[in-house]
Amino acid sequence: MDERQNIKELTYEKLSEYLASLGEPQFRAKQIWQWLWQKNVTDFDQMTNLSKKLRHRIKEDFVLNPVTIHSYQQSPTDKTIKYTFEINGGHLIEGVLIPSHSSERVTACISTQVGCPLGCKFCATGTMGLKRNLLAHEIYDHLWLLNEESKKHFGRKLTNVVVMGMGEPLLNLDNVLRALDIVMSPEGLAMSPQRITLSTVGIVKELYRLADLKPRFNLAVSLHSAIDEVRSQIMPVNNSNPLPELVKALRYFYHQTGKRITFEYLMLSGVNDSIKDAKALAEFTRNFPSKINLIEYNETPQSVFRKSTPDRVREFVNYLENRNLVVTLRRSKGSDIAAACGQLVKMTDRNKQLFNFDTLKPKNKNLH
Ligand code: SF4
Repeated sequence: MDERQNIKELTYEKLSEYLASLGEPQFRAKQIWQWLWQKNVTDFDQMTNLSKKLRHRIKEDFVLNPVTIHSYQQSPTDKTIKYTFEINGGHLIEGVLIPSHSSERVTACISTQVGCPLGCKFCATGTMGLKRNLLAHEIYDHLWLLNEESKKHFGRKLTNVVVMGMGEPLLNLDNVLRALDIVMSPEGLAMSPQRITLSTVGIVKELYRLADLKPRFNLAVSLHSAIDEVRSQIMPVNNSNPLPELVKALRYFYHQTGKRITFEYLMLSGVNDSIKDAKALAEFTRNFPSKINLIEYNETPQSVFRKSTPDRVREFVNYLENRNLVVTLRRSKGSDIAAACGQLVKMTDRNKQLFNFDTLKPKNKNLH
């Protein structure tokens, strides 16, 4: 068994120490760091400004295990592209490129775990269970590849990132934070934290930890119901992270960061779309500056749930807007959509899932 460590698991300091132990000058660490993160080389021999001897020594001590594109599929209607990536061990993960039709924006949706242990009832990923957490460089690398693909297919770099693909990011927080640090760093993708959103179901304990770190990126919460009994039915994680606890943690997050919180709310017919549900949502979101994204459910013949009717959605939106809440609707143009935290992939049903995050202003009332 190959027991060499992946060189990307080293921090900059550890890499510098390693190179110093080989008698290399200080600037070597910076050179190698750039090859690893900015250029994302897949082979040590691509590090052309290192001597052959040094490359040979590094190869003896480390591996790279690059993430590769396994396959992809583009929506003919809205040009969204869904990618499957292969990571070390032969696992498959997913990422999505979502171009905007009304602006220069290209958003990447990235994954943080292979599968997910939380089993939300509306989510395909939840049916897989958890295979393993992604390492920081695996999170970074598939985003890096999406950035390259964005340039190739849409002629521009990524403008936005949502950590909303397979998995619950707060259950893999250390790796997610390390990856995002490099995404934001000039030595990585140099992306603005304002353009990055981490989406969670709300793991209370980890929310406090995140709040104390005062992240510069944005936070979204997959809420889907502001009534405990309803939320527990569709999101079992609510049993151990009930809404009163979640409110306290989010208040603390706002207190620490001063950041407005976005709430994702999938509209499920007869489950969470009554005026009683809207009232609970309005009360819940009043606890801090917030924004509500209502998401149209992608109904398939196999779905357990049905999407809310246009009339019901309008009533729901009107109720919230009349209380001066900020509400947007996310709508699928094609029939293939998965939205909110990790509504990606049954591995056997991969090709049916596509994202579209185009938003409509509620005032358009043009939902279907
Ligand atoms: S919605 Fe998110 S947290 Fe829930 S099962 Fe899917 S990936 Fe996991």
